[in-house]
Amino acid sequence: MSTPDVVIVGAGAAGIGAGMALQQRGIPFLIVEGADRIGGRAFTDTASLGTPWDHGCHWLHCADVNPLVAHAQRLGSQYLTDPGWEAGALWIDGALASKDEVAASNAAVQQAFDTVYTEGERGRDVAISDVLPDAGRWARGARHVLQLMIGDDPETDSAAAYADYDDTDHDWPVVSGYGALIAAMADGLPIRLNTPVSGVTDRAGGVRVETGAGTIDAKAAIVTVSTNVLAGSAIAFSPGPAAEFVEKARQFPCGAFEKVAFALSNLPAEFREIRHLMIYPDGGAPAIDFKIADGPIPTMIAHIAGTPAFDLMKLPAADRIVFARDRLISVMGPDVAKLIVAAQCTNWVNNPLIGGSYSHALPGAAQLRRDLIAADTGNVAFAGEALSAQWQATAHGAWQSGQDVATRIAAQLG
Ligand SMILES: Cc1cc2nc3c(=O)[nH]c(=O)nc-3n(C[C@H](O)[C@H](O)[C@H](O)COP(=O)(O)OP(=O)(O)OC[C@H]3O[C@@H](n4cnc5c(N)ncnc54)[C@H](O)[C@@H]3O)c2cc1C
Repeated sequence: MSTPDVVIVGAGAAGIGAGMALQQRGIPFLIVEGADRIGGRAFTDTASLGTPWDHGCHWLHCADVNPLVAHAQRLGSQYLTDPGWEAGALWIDGALASKDEVAASNAAVQQAFDTVYTEGERGRDVAISDVLPDAGRWARGARHVLQLMIGDDPETDSAAAYADYDDTDHDWPVVSGYGALIAAMADGLPIRLNTPVSGVTDRAGGVRVETGAGTIDAKAAIVTVSTNVLAGSAIAFSPGPAAEFVEKARQFPCGAFEKVAFALSNLPAEFREIRHLMIYPDGGAPAIDFKIADGPIPTMIAHIAGTPAFDLMKLPAADRIVFARDRLISVMGPDVAKLIVAAQCTNWVNNPLIGGSYSHALPGAAQLRRDLIAADTGNVAFAGEALSAQWQATAHGAWQSGQDVATRIAAQLG
């Protein structure tokens, strides 16, 4: 292609959002992506289980206002408008809990989130763990759900920053794969895969982007890599506003959230109506939950976040699978192992192009994130999930951030 006006670094949701905005305005651009596939943390795996499953984003959060729902409709994605929370089961003290116990556990989780919002909206820029009520018997479950939402431990996230998230409580699972949706949205965009960027220089009249396949000069760059990649040494930024931005972005690290997925030959009858299974393992170990989907190839997908996920990622993949399988055996009995026909696990923390789950604001950094979202860093701009407040840490927040930043850059280029 002819010289692009804008180079977009990264073909995840933010990079694709930025590309779509520039394409709409007729501005020449190129997306350079270090991996051999599009999507980043949006990745639908169709190979390992014989049925699609998402390693990363799966739920259209804030679905009633999520701009990607229109694209899901346009592109024929299959999604459910009922997340199935009512079909949840809880395993505690060696038995399936009663309906009253499930209700009490759900109420404790709700109370934890209500408290975070109340205290956060009061401006308490302190660790979420500092404002949490004692959930007593249900503390392990409440902590687990908070870890999933934060992508890390409640000790690491600011309550005030979390409360910037505008949750509408509409969460729709994309059955055909959220990653597949993001990839389909990228159709027709100029994307160069296997092209890791190693340097971005802001210089008079434009930018210079160094890649594994040569140098690209352009008028502007939009960098969409994760905050953990920014904090690492893979990309060198020239001194100036962009390098200062990168330094401040260290206040928004990505934690850990990993999945272990199983395909079964069939689901035992007593689990066919259950869509979510929370397990409190014996001996006080951290809670874990499985998303269950019945169908021609039934699946059970474990979710693990925060310190338990960091610990899990120290193990080889085969041992991670054994860990999650043993949790299933503890509830369903040893015969469930015979029903497992395929298994796979995610690898976000150890992936050098991602390096974690999604970002959170460290205690004390709530205002800094709002400031960084509004910051003008000249010809080198930044977008991504970390740079959305009301839709922080989500795929649609990343996409919208890409759209907003590209619109700003387009206006700048005149
Ligand atoms: C386990 C898990 C579950 C999740 N669940 C949900 C969910 O249900 N709903 C939801 O909305 N969100 C969810 N998320 C979050 C969502 O997936 C992310 O917020 C979003 O996809 C991030 O998009 P992004 O474009 O900001 O970053 P990324 O997807 O990380 O995109 C950045 C891209 O840059 C590339 N890159 C990195 N370094 C370089 C380099 N040097 N040169 C060139 N390219 C480079 C990467 O390969 C990547 O493709 C989940 C995430 C995880 C990990």
